[in-house]
Amino acid sequence: MTIAQDKSHHTDDGFKNPFPGFEEKGFADFIQWSLIDRIKGKKPDKPDSYDFPFTENDGLYLRENSKEFTVTWIGHSTLLIQIDGFNILTDPIWSDRCSPVQFAGPKRHVKPGVRLEDLPKIDAIIISHNHYDHLDRLTLEYFGNDPMYFVPLGIGEFLEDIDLTNYEELDWWDELTLNGLKFACVPAQHFSNRGLSDRNKTLWSGWVLKGDTQTIYFAGDTGYFPGFAEIGEKYGPITVAAIPIGAYIPRWFMSPVHVSPQEAVQAFLDVKAEYFVPIHWGTFELADEPLDNPPIVLNQEIERLELNKDKFFILEHGQTKIFESEKVLTSIE
Ligand code: ZN
Ligand code: ZN
Repeated sequence: MTIAQDKSHHTDDGFKNPFPGFEEKGFADFIQWSLIDRIKGKKPDKPDSYDFPFTENDGLYLRENSKEFTVTWIGHSTLLIQIDGFNILTDPIWSDRCSPVQFAGPKRHVKPGVRLEDLPKIDAIIISHNHYDHLDRLTLEYFGNDPMYFVPLGIGEFLEDIDLTNYEELDWWDELTLNGLKFACVPAQHFSNRGLSDRNKTLWSGWVLKGDTQTIYFAGDTGYFPGFAEIGEKYGPITVAAIPIGAYIPRWFMSPVHVSPQEAVQAFLDVKAEYFVPIHWGTFELADEPLDNPPIVLNQEIERLELNKDKFFILEHGQTKIFESEKVLTSIE
């Protein structure tokens, strides 16, 4: 049986990670990491600002394109995916901070790669889970009920609270097809919460979008787990895998729920995708590594394993990559 098809990830009042070897970190661990290690001076120094390369993208090509399969990195885990004429956003956040309030909390270090008003008409939005860096109320309110929202179980209530009713809630391995494009909710090893008393009450997931000729896997937030190989088996061949590489240090705290860049490469090999696009880095500072560290470690791992560099696209904020299976046609840089 496929993992978690038996609903072993359901609990009486929410969800859990049913995967072998998963080690839950609790509130005491969070305090150890976020407070005690800081007081003890165990936090590595990080730069105050970064000089990331940035692609100016006015959205003109994106608004006119209805044929090519493209992926544009807006920042963090926000991608604009164009597939079979659909325009789809993943975990969209245009806000300055990923936080319950806009005066405190992790702030953006790089502006969004495409301005909201320059986007093409958005047909669908997929959400991986309810953390503030993935489910941003202000951004969703901007889009309103025009796009169709695809969310894991339990997130519908949040959408209803902000008057969004055009949504579908899916469990792991559930699928829905919209005008020929398949949306599949797939497992991830992570957790959910927006406050202190709602831990794991809503589900977390990745998504697979399967079109006529191309397939993209968006991993959401996840630790390394056996699900990658199963997702690849079930939905392959996968053209592009968008896998997180950031917010991974310290490993004792992060590894159950965030892959390291090295594990992200292994996940890419497990799903047997053709191309890799890293996400969840370079935008919000959420963990102990400097924001520009994950792609450095990613490149070292690609070299160590002697993998083909042409399969890895570390996009700049705002950069659009146009994909064709077996061959990359061009890019806007
Ligand atoms: Zn998360
Ligand atoms: Zn995250």
